[in-house]
Amino acid sequence: MRRKLAAGNWKMNGLNATLAELSALAAEHPDTGVDLLICPPATLIAPARAALAGSPLQIGGQDCHAETSGAYTGDLSAMMLRDAGASAVILGHSERRASHRETSEEVRLKANTAQAAGLMSVVCLGESRFQREATNTLDIIGAQLSLSVPDSSTGENLVVAYEPVWAIGSGLTPTPEQIGEVHTFMRARLEHRFGPGIGRSVRLLYGGSVKAENAAEIFAIPDVDGALVGGASLKASDFSPIIEALEAA
Ligand code: PEP
Repeated sequence: MRRKLAAGNWKMNGLNATLAELSALAAEHPDTGVDLLICPPATLIAPARAALAGSPLQIGGQDCHAETSGAYTGDLSAMMLRDAGASAVILGHSERRASHRETSEEVRLKANTAQAAGLMSVVCLGESRFQREATNTLDIIGAQLSLSVPDSSTGENLVVAYEPVWAIGSGLTPTPEQIGEVHTFMRARLEHRFGPGIGRSVRLLYGGSVKAENAAEIFAIPDVDGALVGGASLKASDFSPIIEALEAA
């Protein structure tokens, strides 16, 4: 039985004052039946953890380096995130794949290091608009999935987020059939690679313009175990109805 997960990606948004939104969210969902994860900028991981003392809401990073330490100015290791209070890390987000030219191979190395440090990896993948129109989306997703996910993965240390690039921050969402096709495919590929035990225990999130208005429809799709939410996770008043839709799913 997979526990549902609502994860928020704050991207490069949030200052100390924004932590009031986290406290409000935690207060609104004190004993929710779903897992909650917020990934603020790294500067807010430790203060967020402190502000949430006693709350089951988890805090995560948005990236980490593939190496455990060394001469990598400006980068953060998985153990640093863990040390600051993170229990998870988003890896391979399409914005990093685009602006930092991260490849699936690099994402896998990062996920390996993150898992070894005790962090759950939220590995993101998804096709661009051009890829959906010009090629077979499932070929793109299959390649990204097999290259980005490390062999050491389990249902505890891996979450996969399907995030079509064209749906992120655009207000566009795939049809339920399109989301269902990709999630069913990812589940089958994970079961084939890891066996039914692990393959069925890895949670699959949908991400891309999830909001209160479309959350219930998305959460009703088979093999959608929750959502990775960008813009609508910044305010408790926007994220709460999404959490409630997941609780009701
Ligand atoms: C994201 O960036 O992971 C995301 C899903 O963004 P949004 O919800 O704003 O589309």
